[in-house]
Amino acid sequence: MPEYEPVVGMECHAELLTNSKMFCGCKNEFGGEPNTRCCPICLGMPGALPVMNREAVNHVIRTALALNCEITRDAKFDRKNYFYPDLPKGYQISEYDKPIGVKGWLDIEVDGQVKRIHIRRVHLEEDTGKLFHVAGDESFVDLNRSGVPLMEIVTEFPPDIHSADEARAYLMKLRTILTFIGVCDGKMEEGSLRCEPNVSIREIGTHILGTKTEIKNLNSFRAVQKGIEFEVERQAELTEAGEKIVQETRGWNDAKQITFSQRSKEGEQEYRYFPEPDLLPLEISDDWIEQIRLNMPELPDSRKARIISEYGLSAYDAAYLIEEKELVDFFEETAKLSGDAKLSANWIMSDLARLLNTDNTPIQNSPISPAHLAEMVKLINDGTISGKIAKTLIEEMFTTSIAPGLIVEDKGWKTIKDTGAIEALVEKVMADNPAIISDIKEKGLMQKKGFLVGQVMKASQGKADPQDVNRIIDEKLIG
Ligand SMILES: [Zn+2]
Repeated sequence: MPEYEPVVGMECHAELLTNSKMFCGCKNEFGGEPNTRCCPICLGMPGALPVMNREAVNHVIRTALALNCEITRDAKFDRKNYFYPDLPKGYQISEYDKPIGVKGWLDIEVDGQVKRIHIRRVHLEEDTGKLFHVAGDESFVDLNRSGVPLMEIVTEFPPDIHSADEARAYLMKLRTILTFIGVCDGKMEEGSLRCEPNVSIREIGTHILGTKTEIKNLNSFRAVQKGIEFEVERQAELTEAGEKIVQETRGWNDAKQITFSQRSKEGEQEYRYFPEPDLLPLEISDDWIEQIRLNMPELPDSRKARIISEYGLSAYDAAYLIEEKELVDFFEETAKLSGDAKLSANWIMSDLARLLNTDNTPIQNSPISPAHLAEMVKLINDGTISGKIAKTLIEEMFTTSIAPGLIVEDKGWKTIKDTGAIEALVEKVMADNPAIISDIKEKGLMQKKGFLVGQVMKASQGKADPQDVNRIIDEKLIG
């Protein structure tokens, strides 16, 4: 059996973070009572005229610049004509032959290798409404989403992506960039970021492209990866059996982890694109572009490089923290306040991440603030509490949102500095364990000392400093 190589193109749609919709003043927000955020324009009433949302255009220019695109100075809008019940106008306003951004790229990293993925276009359009199919052959339409500004980002042809891992890495990187520059909230589960990979296979070593299929309804990184893996396997099996691959759109069944045939793909000529007569072409000036460039937030790649050099983090830690803008913001604030970046990162990536994950809480809603976490790190560093106590303390902070200093005071969790008190505990433990003492003293079994240290730490409820305990035990054993 020959070895096959996947060829994957990515079409991603991102709902833009604007106050109002693309061509009217209706609120742009997820959810809401169905059909309450609509007006004659987004309902597609005859004679209603669209008015361009400048902020949406700014977002697309910002994205195009962040993705290293050239900006089309005379970008324009076109009508893409088709009928579907979630599209009351019978056409979608989109950009056909003059998209705002062209010829860009982003870099991904898979297995330590950096790879450049070329981007063909970034364009602006409007979202459709949503259909709900309920039992008993009834369907409902909610037009709250109709006319929400939508950006489409398409990778270059022929595609650079040749594995499900690369496709996943591309999508993760794209999401990071979009959220860092504030144009999209990146919530795949709410459909704010949607991805439709098209997949074909070819024998390794050949350059002919095979028939491709497009996968829809993928709403997580995992689904994108599994969907592509499944499709590659399915196409390889068909090819081996001498059967033809049909060009079509396939859905993704997440429960069964399979793709299934939805409909054969329409050719683009069937959309009968023509210039949108109700909107003037854009005139994107140098000043406009420069203004956006000047206000561009720090991009993920440069921020990652900066937190490595500024805080001395490992590339692994930096890559972890950079995945979410809110996470790296949280880290930087904590690191600055605590003065110990490495220890701050460790607590964020281990105990805090676990608590947030168990509680299904995003970092931006963390009950522990950066200031409180920084205070905890300082309490550890100045010897007020032990690392062991801190493990319990962080749980208490998470549950109560109370400052760590107050909790430590209230619970009496300060490290015992009084050596007399530790001596008393050591003496008691030694008196309780004569057999261990004789093993150490007479048989030289020094490894048994660890047991004594453990017992003293336990007796001190974790509040003794293990170094003090070790030293005092040594003194008593010699004495
Ligand atoms: Zn409206």
